Amino acid sequence: MQNEGLTLEANKHVASRNACKLCAPLGASMVFKGIEGCIPMIHGSQGCATYIRRYLISHYKEPMDIASSNFSEETTIYGGNKNFINGIDNIRKQYAPTVMGIASTCLSETIGEDIPSLIAEYREIYNGDSTLPLFVHASTPSYSGTHMDGFHEAVLATIRTLSVEAKRERRINLFSGFISPADIRLLKQLMNDFEIDYTLFPDYSTSMDNPCWKDYHLIPEGGTSIDDIRKTGSATASIELGTVLNKGSLSEQVLMRSSVTSAGEWLEKNYFIKNHTIVMPIGIEATDSLMNIISTTSGKEIPQKYALQRGRLVDAYIDGHKYVFGKKAVVYGEEDMVIAVSLFLAEIGIKPVIVASGGESKLMKKELLKYNEEAFSETIILSGADFETIRELSLEIKPDIIIGNSKGYYIARQLSIPIVRIGFPIHDRIGGPRIKHLLYEGTQNLFDLIVNALLDYKQEHSPIGYKYM
Ligand code: SF4
Repeated sequence: MQNEGLTLEANKHVASRNACKLCAPLGASMVFKGIEGCIPMIHGSQGCATYIRRYLISHYKEPMDIASSNFSEETTIYGGNKNFINGIDNIRKQYAPTVMGIASTCLSETIGEDIPSLIAEYREIYNGDSTLPLFVHASTPSYSGTHMDGFHEAVLATIRTLSVEAKRERRINLFSGFISPADIRLLKQLMNDFEIDYTLFPDYSTSMDNPCWKDYHLIPEGGTSIDDIRKTGSATASIELGTVLNKGSLSEQVLMRSSVTSAGEWLEKNYFIKNHTIVMPIGIEATDSLMNIISTTSGKEIPQKYALQRGRLVDAYIDGHKYVFGKKAVVYGEEDMVIAVSLFLAEIGIKPVIVASGGESKLMKKELLKYNEEAFSETIILSGADFETIRELSLEIKPDIIIGNSKGYYIARQLSIPIVRIGFPIHDRIGGPRIKHLLYEGTQNLFDLIVNALLDYKQEHSPIGYKYM
């Protein structure tokens, strides 16, 4: 574990104890779920696909078909090309996908499987077959990255494989990061309100948050269309939400291959499409930045609706200020989410005392100080963190509130303080996919959740209770 801030006694542990991160092909699978007509395939052991499916089902409460090439002992020794080809044959027969998103695993990477060659071999066998799906391959060894590295590697792989350079249109590429389906819907509404053509990628707002079906859908509806992905090569600008993205440990490999780490950078380098990399739009300042970039790029005024939402949010900040000011918070999760939420907390007067992520870019401190040096000069900022370290530090520092995914619940329980569940995964509540975090509307939701969690705690611990504030 790396401490980006202070030198801590807790650093004496060399083993990870309940890591604050997930497996890289899980992130890639999320991206593939956001491509229309796509089925993800994990090239490796059955257990990897089963773990990922189980994890996603528990959060999204949706059926989750993820294929696997099902490595055995023999495959591990002699290579997985037979399983790869049979696996794709079976998937095509059952699902008839238009795209197959293939992610590697620790095992297939360790034995040196050359997946691009396997794809080429498969294409060669079926040369001329008009039903052949498109293939996207993301390299996702979990031992050198988190689910976020896998996620952004898959976004980059998709754009590198499918985008087509063409005559410029007034169009924006929005690479929205690992956000909730509800947040994707908010962003799509925003782009529609600006009346600008756009590609939002990956769009799993429907495929991971389906309406109730009468019959089972092998590949759920929704996802960014192939046509829209191709059009990313003709846009005026790209906007990437998040400033760390996959600049973690996977970046060295990515850099070796292409000297870029993200889809926006790749489009800028290859097709000269201006790329804006910004903090996820949580809080007023960060949302203002996104609004201004869209407005400048599209040449359109910010719609009045958002001025009203912003005004109501400012009003709520004023109403709730006395309940949150000076409170101490622990924030953990994915690096970009943690940076955005911490900046938002500083904006409303809460002190983020511990900011932690399993991500290993070591960029969090730099980013937080860049945007608000005063608020984060004494914050303990942990990179490559595990939950036990967060727990031990929390016992010492005694925060008032914990903000992050459901895996930190046991810390809140031990400290008898409130937890506000955000991000992924949320395994002990329903509604994870419907949590709004972004833009003025999502910020309003987070603000209300946080203030009410603190009020709830105060009310519960009051000797007399109270009915009015
Ligand atoms: S960490 Fe590696 S071995 Fe474990 S599930 Fe993920 S890819 Fe499979």
